[in-house]
Amino acid sequence: MTIFWHRRDLRISDNAGLYHTLLGGGPVLPVFIFDRNILDELPSKKDARVEFIHDSVTELAKAYREYGSDLRVFYGYPLEVWEFLRDSLRPEAVYTNRDYEPYALERDRAVANLLSIREIPFRDYKDHVIFESDEVQKKAGGPYTVYTPYMRTWLRTLDSRLVSFGEEKISYFLKPYPTERYLHHLLPEKGPYPIPTLAEMGFAPSGVEVPPAAEGRDLLTHYDQNRDFPAVAGTTRWGPHLRHGTVSIRERARLARTTNDTLLGELIWRDFYSNILQAFPHVAKGNYRPEYDHIPWINKEEHFRLWCEGKTGVPIVDAGMRQLNATGFMHNRVRMIVASYLTKHLLIDWRLGEKYFADKLLCYELASNNGGWQWAAGGGVDAQPYFRIFNFDSQQRKFDKEYRYVKRWVPEYGTESYPQEPIVPHKFGRDRALRVYKEALAEARS
Ligand SMILES: Cc1cc2nc3c(=O)[nH]c(=O)nc-3n(C[C@H](O)[C@H](O)[C@H](O)COP(=O)(O)OP(=O)(O)OC[C@H]3O[C@@H](n4cnc5c(N)ncnc54)[C@H](O)[C@@H]3O)c2cc1C
Repeated sequence: MTIFWHRRDLRISDNAGLYHTLLGGGPVLPVFIFDRNILDELPSKKDARVEFIHDSVTELAKAYREYGSDLRVFYGYPLEVWEFLRDSLRPEAVYTNRDYEPYALERDRAVANLLSIREIPFRDYKDHVIFESDEVQKKAGGPYTVYTPYMRTWLRTLDSRLVSFGEEKISYFLKPYPTERYLHHLLPEKGPYPIPTLAEMGFAPSGVEVPPAAEGRDLLTHYDQNRDFPAVAGTTRWGPHLRHGTVSIRERARLARTTNDTLLGELIWRDFYSNILQAFPHVAKGNYRPEYDHIPWINKEEHFRLWCEGKTGVPIVDAGMRQLNATGFMHNRVRMIVASYLTKHLLIDWRLGEKYFADKLLCYELASNNGGWQWAAGGGVDAQPYFRIFNFDSQQRKFDKEYRYVKRWVPEYGTESYPQEPIVPHKFGRDRALRVYKEALAEARS
């Protein structure tokens, strides 16, 4: 028997690792572990992401049952679960899809060691991204740190190998893995095996729903025109689905390729940030550019609290933070504005904002979140230069001219109850940030 371990790939269809496991013969036993190392750290026990994973795992188990098999679901510490599986089932091999986050890499190394004691191989596959960091490299070698040349090489690599797909020719790298052909290699099960309930894991329903991953042609073809306006539902909401693999990145990239180049560009940003994390794992903890470690953050607690609660007196910042707190989503344009306000105007360490987003975002993904925050604070790869500071008033005029987004999330806006002045006004905050950044960077470089 071989075991396939699902993690951030909660689907059967077009699943690279599952395909390779099935191809190897069988019988194949699929497993999933609710990882206590991750769950125990979550600050809220009403976490919509845990609910979403639970729902998706339940759906996945149902799908396996339709093929006469089942998904074995555990709740525990992965090393303990793997010791149990190794000794009770004695699998011939264990397969999975690669996860590039520092915790996952360490966990997988430990699991591989544990299995190797009984000479059980642990094999992993690329599934979460289109390209890994060693597949898109500079001509002279080494990873890109600037998006535009990365994107060009990414596209060139994509088109460097074409294969037939039905009537069409598509990139080899976007071709789906036909898992369906080999599902007869699944272990026949009499099941159904129980799935731990949310309550058994100490969680309760959150009342927040993850919206479906949009596929409508209209939305996709108009993505480039609508995506910057937060009052318009013009983006795909693919985030949580790509994060947990309830949709395949290859399938979504094919869809983007045939509908909207700007959307494909966003998926390339996703690969880019994943590649940065793979090539420069130090970014998970600190600035890509070490000189930015010298910025003397003010970190005023009261300001951080007001930012988190959406009470800064900057309408678009407050609307964004309240949207995040209520729904687990914030529009990308507004993410950039709130991140800029926190790091530049309030001079609060980007890592505090990063952590707040990590706790709240339904689509939370270490690589993209970290990349977005370092971009805003200035110390990341291909970041905006520190002296370019978002003016929240002109962003408001440009992207939410009629205040539709603001009024939806800040109902008291325009009344006496809304602050007349921001906690830090633009000119004061901008001048202070310019001075503080300039001095700190000059000192670091001297
Ligand atoms: C400070 C900050 C933090 C962010 N944190 C995250 C995060 O934790 N997880 C996350 O997936 N994205 C993050 N982003 C990127 C982006 O804001 C979201 O991917 C996007 O808003 C999600 O909405 P959507 O699914 O409707 O995206 P769409 O605009 O419809 O884009 C489609 C998909 O492309 C990818 N994508 C889009 N923009 C980016 C981007 N700039 N960087 C990387 N991938 C992108 C996502 O997978 C997204 O689901 C962050 C951006 C900023 C500025």
